[in-house]
Amino acid sequence: MTEYKTIEDLGDLNGKVAMLRADLNVPMNENFEVTNTARIDRTVPTIKLLMNKGAKVVVISHFGRPEGKGDMKNSLSHVAPELEKALGFKVIFVEDCVGHVVEDAVKNMKDDEVLLLENLRFYNEEKKGNADWAKELTKVADVYISDAFSTAHRAHASMVAAAQNLPSAMGLLMSEEVDALSKGLNNPERPLMAVVGGSKVSTKLDLLNNLVKKVDKLVISGGMAHTFLRAKGFESVNEENSLVQMDMLETAKEIMTTALNNNCEILLPLDLVAAKEFKPNAEHKTVDLDNIPASSWELLDVGQKTIDLICAKLEECKTLVWNGPLGVFEMKPFDNATNKVAEKAAELTLAGKLTSVAGGGDTVSALANAGVADKFTYISTAGGAFLEWMEGKELPGVVIMKK
Ligand code: AMP
Repeated sequence: MTEYKTIEDLGDLNGKVAMLRADLNVPMNENFEVTNTARIDRTVPTIKLLMNKGAKVVVISHFGRPEGKGDMKNSLSHVAPELEKALGFKVIFVEDCVGHVVEDAVKNMKDDEVLLLENLRFYNEEKKGNADWAKELTKVADVYISDAFSTAHRAHASMVAAAQNLPSAMGLLMSEEVDALSKGLNNPERPLMAVVGGSKVSTKLDLLNNLVKKVDKLVISGGMAHTFLRAKGFESVNEENSLVQMDMLETAKEIMTTALNNNCEILLPLDLVAAKEFKPNAEHKTVDLDNIPASSWELLDVGQKTIDLICAKLEECKTLVWNGPLGVFEMKPFDNATNKVAEKAAELTLAGKLTSVAGGGDTVSALANAGVADKFTYISTAGGAFLEWMEGKELPGVVIMKK
C-alpha cells in the first residue's frame, strides 16, 4: 500500500476541515427509507478515525441520477438519519454542496458533529469533471479524503479535480478495496483462477481479453459459456435453448487462441442443466454436451461434472477472482452450481489455502444467496469500478491517490 497516499500521510489533522468523498448512493424504497446500509456502514470507520484525529468532517457524495437538476427524490437528506445512526454522532445536513450555505455551516460546526452536503450530482459540473467547480467545492476544506472506490472509474469533479486541490489521501475503505483487489490480480499468489459467469459474452469482452493474459485458469460459465461451446462446434447449443450470441463466435475463438498463447487454461462446462421452462423449480435434467436437447429446453446452469472440475482445479489454486454467477442463481435449483463452487471457495479460504476476491453487479447477491458473503477474503462494494479493474483499466479515482 505504500504506493498510495493514506490518512497517516496527511500529518496533524487537529482542527482541520477534512472533506470526505464517500459513496452514499444506497438503495432506497419509495418511502425514502434506506434498504441496505452497507455503503454507509463501511465508510463510518474513516469518519471516526478523522474525528479521533481532531478533524472536522464534511461528507460529500452523489446519490441517484438527478442529471444536474435538484430534486427531492434524489436528496441526500434522506440518507442523513441513517448516517447519524451508524456513526453515533450528530449529522447536520446542508442543503447545498457549494456556496455560502456550506461556508456558514462549516464555520458553525461544533466538535462531535459531522456535515453531510447535498447531492453533488445536482450540479452538471460534477459529472463533467469541472475543475473550477471543484475549487468551489473544496474551498471550505483543508484536506481531501476519498472512500468512494465504487465511483473511482469516473473522473468526476469530486473524484479527481477535488483531490488535486488539497493534500489528499485514501480513506480506510478505499485502501481496503485497493489492497484486496491488488492481491487478486496485480500481485496474486499463483496459480490464479478467474471465474466469469453472467449472461452475455458481448458485455464482458474487455474483461475476458484482459483475464486470458493474466490468469492461469479461466472458468467461463453462465449464459456466456454457450457462445464458447457453440464456437467449439457443439451445434445443438442454439438461440432457442441458450443465450448463444452467433455474431460472437469468431470473438470467442480469438479469446480461446489468446488464452492458448498465454498458457491460460480455459475451463468450459462439461455438462449443462436443461430446464423445460424458465421458471423456479421447472422440470429439468442434466445433460452431457453431446446430448443437449435442441429446442423447447433452456440451458440454465452447469451440471455436477462441471462443478467437480471447477472445484478440483480450484484446490490447485492460491488466488480466485470471481465475477458473475454460473447459472440463473435467482431461481432454484438453478443456483446450484454457483452455490457449490462458492461453498468450495469459502471452505478453501477459511482453511487459509485461498485468497478469494469477488465483486461486480449480481455477484454480490449471488454469493450472499450462497451464504458465503462473509467467508470470502474480500467482496467488493463496487460494481462498475470492480469490473473496470478486472478489465485491467486504470481507475482515475485511484490513480490520483498515487504518491
Ligand atoms: P451479468 O450481469 O452479465 O453478470 O449477468 C448476470 C445474470 O446472468 C443473472 O441474472 C443470471 O440469471 C444470468 N445467467 C447466468 N447464467 C445464465 C444462463 N445459463 N442462462 C440465462 N441467464 C443466465
